[in-house]
Amino acid sequence: MPDAIVVGAGVTGCSVAYHLALRGLRDIRVLDRGAEPGNGSTRRATGGFRAQFGSAINVRLSLLSREKLLRFEDETGVDPGFAQHGYLFLARSRSALRELEAAQQIQRANGCHDGRMIDAAEAREINPAIEDDALVGGAYCAADGFLRPLQITRGYYEAAQRLGVRFEFGVDCEPNALDAGVVVDARGAWCGAPIEPVRRCVAPTVPTTALPADMPMTIWCDDGYHLRMRDGRALLLLPDDDCLENGWLARVEQLTRERVPPLRDVPIDRNACWSGLYEMSPDKHAILGHLRDNVYICSGSSGHGVMHAPALGQLLAEIIVDGNATTIDTHALRPSRFAENEPIAGSALL
Ligand SMILES: Cc1cc2nc3c(=O)[nH]c(=O)nc-3n(C[C@H](O)[C@H](O)[C@H](O)COP(=O)(O)OP(=O)(O)OC[C@H]3O[C@@H](n4cnc5c(N)ncnc54)[C@H](O)[C@@H]3O)c2cc1C
Repeated sequence: MPDAIVVGAGVTGCSVAYHLALRGLRDIRVLDRGAEPGNGSTRRATGGFRAQFGSAINVRLSLLSREKLLRFEDETGVDPGFAQHGYLFLARSRSALRELEAAQQIQRANGCHDGRMIDAAEAREINPAIEDDALVGGAYCAADGFLRPLQITRGYYEAAQRLGVRFEFGVDCEPNALDAGVVVDARGAWCGAPIEPVRRCVAPTVPTTALPADMPMTIWCDDGYHLRMRDGRALLLLPDDDCLENGWLARVEQLTRERVPPLRDVPIDRNACWSGLYEMSPDKHAILGHLRDNVYICSGSSGHGVMHAPALGQLLAEIIVDGNATTIDTHALRPSRFAENEPIAGSALL
C-alpha cells in the first residue's frame, strides 16, 4: 500500500506531492485522468499573483507563497516566471473604495505593508493607459504581479519525481475508493460539493504593442473588468457565468473602448479566446485539511489556486506529517467549517 496517493496533477496536486516527499513520505503516487500535468484549470489561468486580499488567511497564504516563489528556481530548478509588476485596484464607488480600505487594514494587520491607497490622479500615473472620469480612487501594491502557472506546475512535477514520486496519467479515480496511508483530493473544480465549478473566460487581443509589457494588472472593483499584458497580447476579463455567450464579448469590447483608449483600435482575437473553471468554495476560500478516514483535501481556492499552491502544498504536508500546520494557522480553512456554520468572512476583492 502506498504511503500517499494524490488525485489530480494540477499545480495543487504537484505541490502537495512534492511537499509530502520533502517531508519524508515514501511511495507517493499522483493519479490524473488527463494526459499530462496541469491540463485542468491550471493551464487556463492567466497567472496573476497578489497579496491584496480582504481576509487574514488569504493575505498570509500569499505572503508564504511569495516567499516560496522568490526561491522557487533554487528549490526546483524551474523559473516560476514571477514578475512583480504590481496590481492596481480601481474604485468607481465609495463602497468599493471602503472595501479596498478595509482590505488594506487586514493586509497590514497580517504583515503585508506593501499596498497603499491612491487617489484617481495617482491611478492614472501608475497606469497612464486608463481613462475613467468616474474613478474615486483605488489601491496599489507594487509587490504583486504575475507568475507562470505551467512553469510552477512543472517545477513541482520534476522536483517531486526527483524525490521518487510516481505520476500516472489517464487514470480516472474516486479518492474515497483508494487504498493508501493517506489520500489527497486535489481534483480542483471536479472535487464535488461543496466545491462548485464556475466558468471564467479570457478574451485576448491580437498581438499588440499598444500597452507596455510591464503594465500592472488593472482591475475595476465595481464590475470586476480587468486586464493585463501577457506574451504581447492584452488579456481582457469580465467575471460572468455566461461568458463567451449572450453578448459577453460585446460588453468586454465596450468596456475596453471606454476605459483603455490605447486598445480602441486593437481587436479581440476571437479564435484565441478561452474559458476554464474556477474551483469555487462557498466562502471563496481554499478548503484544506482532513475530510474523513484517510482522505484529505486541498482545493477550493476559488480562482486563486495557482498563486496559493506553493503555500497550500507545504501546509497540507505539515498537517499530514505533523498533525497540524505550523508555518501558518490553517484552522480557518478546515473542511468542517461549513457544517459548523463558520465560513470565512472577508472579501476576496475579485
Ligand atoms: C480563466 C481563469 C483565470 C485564472 N486566473 C488565475 C490567476 O490569475 N491566478 C491564480 O492563482 N489562479 C487563477 N485561476 C485559478 C486557477 O486556474 C486554479 O485555482 C488552479 O489552477 C487550481 O489548480 P488545481 O491543481 O487545484 O486544479 P486543476 O489544475 O484543475 O487540476 C485538477 C486535476 O485533477 C484532475 N482530475 C479531476 N478529476 C479527476 C478524477 N476523477 N480522476 C483523476 N484525475 C482527476 C484533472 O485532470 C486536473 O488535472 C484562473 C482560472 C481560470 C479558469
